[in-house]
Amino acid sequence: MTLCPRDQRQLATNQAAKFRYLSCLRCQGHWIPGGALDRAIPNFASHVSPCPHPTQPVFNCFQCQKPMGAVQARGCQLDLCPSCHSLWIDGPELKRLETLFARDSEIRTGIEYQDRQAGTSSLDGVEVVLEMLMMFLD
Ligand SMILES: [Zn+2]
Ligand SMILES: [Zn+2]
Repeated sequence: MTLCPRDQRQLATNQAAKFRYLSCLRCQGHWIPGGALDRAIPNFASHVSPCPHPTQPVFNCFQCQKPMGAVQARGCQLDLCPSCHSLWIDGPELKRLETLFARDSEIRTGIEYQDRQAGTSSLDGVEVVLEMLMMFLD
């Protein structure tokens, strides 16, 4: 049983198209296991920088028990395991990332971003964010 690092709720296991991940239904935080992240975004760690002033407490990796490292991508704080590359994304940070990437793709494509309405499953959310991260990091 894995508990949310932010509110200690039990995390739910989700199946995305290519990998399994864990979600907190309360705070909408997501846990993406190391292997899945490495396959989705090779060298993810090289695209983020250490977060100098983390706003959330550090917790230990669910997969390998090492302390997670606070990193940032475009000003959004993420928790990345330096050892196995598992990733935790806080619910509010996920929303911010979605908004940032939506704005980017609007600028790039000229197509207006449709805000994701409540009712969209978190599964869509995390897959879309990974896709957007990949686009952005390229
Ligand atoms: Zn939570
Ligand atoms: Zn780890």
